[in-house]
Amino acid sequence: MDKAVSTPAGVKRAVIFLGAPGAGKGTQAREAAKELGVPHLSTGDMFRENVAKGTELGRRAEPIMKSGALVPDDITLGMVEERIGRTDCARGFIFDGFPRTLAQAEKLDELLQQRGFGKATVVYITVPDEIVIRRVTGRRTCKQCGAIYNIYDAPPKVAGRCDHDGAELVQRADDSEQTARSRIEAYHRQTLPLVEHYRRAGALVEVDGTVDAASVNRAIMKILRAV
Ligand code: AMP
Repeated sequence: MDKAVSTPAGVKRAVIFLGAPGAGKGTQAREAAKELGVPHLSTGDMFRENVAKGTELGRRAEPIMKSGALVPDDITLGMVEERIGRTDCARGFIFDGFPRTLAQAEKLDELLQQRGFGKATVVYITVPDEIVIRRVTGRRTCKQCGAIYNIYDAPPKVAGRCDHDGAELVQRADDSEQTARSRIEAYHRQTLPLVEHYRRAGALVEVDGTVDAASVNRAIMKILRAV
């Protein structure tokens, strides 16, 4: 794959993937980051790593994540600011699951400006709620390589095993039906206002997330290669 073809050398770019839990942000952001050769920054993954390692940050985030609520802005922003300060982010990066509140979006606008980034490109993946619930509760992830499956719509060849490496597939603790509903409720209340924030800034591009993943990827790459 050609890398960042339309980005002239020296241009720094931040891309944000916005959408409900289960809209396909993770799958799409990971693929786009690979194709553009920039880091994929998932705040959900960062929190889960901290929980797995038993860090102080992980201990604070774990019960909040289990309930389906959002981790407080100060904790999230501190973690993100440290991450985008690392050298691998100098040329650009793709955010997956961040920002999720207006306060996070406003602080991010500031951080990007301070670091010499132009206006972010916000890819908004739209999917109706009823599809989102099925996607979230059916989601299984490979313990080893992180590949994502869905027991209803994209099952592995052998139940419970990854097609790539045969490792065990696991369900995220917060993908149970009850927690999924709380996460979708938090999305409507706290994250949806970001759509207007970025639309007003002229940064938003909408992509239909109900079609198959390869088609969504094509639509996204067309947009990202054109900006
Ligand atoms: P995700 O993997 O993006 O669905 O995130 C899983 C959980 O991590 C969320 O339900 C939140 O509890 C927490 N989380 C991830 N990103 C953020 C964020 N930007 N702000 C607050 N909490 C977050």
